[in-house]
Amino acid sequence: MTSDRSTPGGVEREFPLARLTTVRTGGSAKFFARAGSNSKVVELLAWAQDHGLEVGVIGSGSNLLVADSGFDGLVIKLDGHLTEVVFDDAEVICGGGSRLPRVAARTAEVGLGGLEFGVNIPGTVGGAIRMNANAYGGELAAVLEWAEVASPDGVERRGPEDFDFSYRHSNISGRQIVTRAKFSLTPGTSEQVKQKLADLRERRHAAQPSGIKTFGSTFKNPSDDRAEGRTAGQLLEAAGCKGMAVGGARFSPKHANFVDNFDDASTADVVALIAAGRKRVREEFGIELETEVQVLGDIDRSLWQVK
Ligand SMILES: Cc1cc2nc3c(=O)[nH]c(=O)nc-3n(C[C@H](O)[C@H](O)[C@H](O)COP(=O)(O)OP(=O)(O)OC[C@H]3O[C@@H](n4cnc5c(N)ncnc54)[C@H](O)[C@@H]3O)c2cc1C
Repeated sequence: MTSDRSTPGGVEREFPLARLTTVRTGGSAKFFARAGSNSKVVELLAWAQDHGLEVGVIGSGSNLLVADSGFDGLVIKLDGHLTEVVFDDAEVICGGGSRLPRVAARTAEVGLGGLEFGVNIPGTVGGAIRMNANAYGGELAAVLEWAEVASPDGVERRGPEDFDFSYRHSNISGRQIVTRAKFSLTPGTSEQVKQKLADLRERRHAAQPSGIKTFGSTFKNPSDDRAEGRTAGQLLEAAGCKGMAVGGARFSPKHANFVDNFDDASTADVVALIAAGRKRVREEFGIELETEVQVLGDIDRSLWQVK
């Protein structure tokens, strides 16, 4: 402890994180706090910095794997005003903690196009910017006008060109939290946007499993020429990984790139399964799959790292 800055209000200790993730595995955060304003986020980040604590931020936990041993730092979750969605003509300002499917549904009510792809992405606006989420040809980077990013020193407003966006990548780092974002949308009719949402939901339902505990795509689609255009899911399937299990975790029988916590899996089960899937694809095709899912805490890096 290098400072006498007192512990901010609302900080809890040993907070279980599994239920804040969609795969439902992993341990507790040493410290945990919810933040409903930019000033609260900055206060928490500055406190963590003063005390040498690592920081994690959790959105909907839909692309997140928490270590079984938990996270030895401060985990922040946005709530209150930072989950609000406010429309102004063809623009919408969203809290970083607002949920993308809800934002997409609201754009349908007011007849604004551009964020329809978010209907199938069960994450928050902040998590989606961090991951440059995309689906069916739509992506965050294409509609983002600005985002506010909090750090221990304050809040900065950045344009899309400042995030170094590429496939499932941005330059947002550990002590930076997206607290609000503004999107520019295209005026249409409510019926048009609702129809597009319905089509996208149907396409998704046909292609992916629903009602399972998962973090969506495990691996990024490779750019390696040897993949010959195949997705990570297609390569895993061709390597015989569909339905393959380790402990309580398996690759979904419906979509091989989705890990399914079907029987009280631990994070160690999930990590071992991911390593086994990657090994099979390497042996079969010589391709090294890169994980998309993000990790909070210490996991077995010897299994995780690309060889
Ligand atoms: C069934 C299913 C389907 C999916 N389909 C898609 C899809 O079609 N396309 C797609 O791109 N993804 C998809 N995903 C993955 C996931 O929903 C996205 O990556 C989403 O953007 C993650 O948002 P989140 O709020 O859940 O982030 P989390 O999983 O909570 O966190 C992911 C990363 O973002 C960071 N983060 C979270 N919030 C913030 C913030 N406010 N500021 C800074 N960093 C933050 C976290 O620290 C972590 O590093 C799917 C997941 C599931 C479970």
